[in-house]
Amino acid sequence: MDNLWLRQLPSGDRARLSRAAELRPFARGEVLCEAGESADAVWLPLEGVVGLAVVLDDGRTVDSALIGREGLVGVTCGPMNGRAASRAVARADGAAACIPAAAFGEALERSVRLREALARFTEGLFAQVQQTAACNAQHSLEARLARRILELQDRVEADRLELAQHDLATMLGVRRSGVSEAAALIERRGLIRRGRGWVAVADRKGLEGLACGCYAMLRRVEGELGFAA
Ligand SMILES: [Zn+2]
Repeated sequence: MDNLWLRQLPSGDRARLSRAAELRPFARGEVLCEAGESADAVWLPLEGVVGLAVVLDDGRTVDSALIGREGLVGVTCGPMNGRAASRAVARADGAAACIPAAAFGEALERSVRLREALARFTEGLFAQVQQTAACNAQHSLEARLARRILELQDRVEADRLELAQHDLATMLGVRRSGVSEAAALIERRGLIRRGRGWVAVADRKGLEGLACGCYAMLRRVEGELGFAA
């Protein structure tokens, strides 16, 4: 397993970042960086999925983006405000190459290509966040759930996803009972199978048909920017 964003960099940049990196495993539900705290590292997932959860003042959360090995976590707090705008939380078990923020900043200063690659990624991430804001306001829970399952599957790269209804409810910012009803509807259509703590995609084409257009739109944008999960 490797990180696809890192792999497309020029060899000098890749070597510099790899030298500074330390392998850090993470488990589903683990918080890599808390909202409002200063991010001291950049995480490049090698496997697994990380969600960027917006934390509301009553403690509820909604994921604004999912990042797998196509991207990196910890870059949304820029030089103007070193504090993370969202909580980075693992949505699937995995591991990341973890690079201290200072070393990442130094590598950025040295390389135009690295800055371009980062700009491409953040442009895609911004598209994902905007699309998700509109999606949460306008699309049905069933369509949003189908979209999220597809996006998780793309990043986990396996048909079977280890996750509980609680995880999906937290990601979508809805009650567990709502997720349970929507998942049951999708299962009755034969598009997914479910068990205790797992969901499996049974009919990918059918699930893509049920998902809102946000899924296909983001795949297109990510393809145009030269990265895709
Ligand atoms: Zn949508």
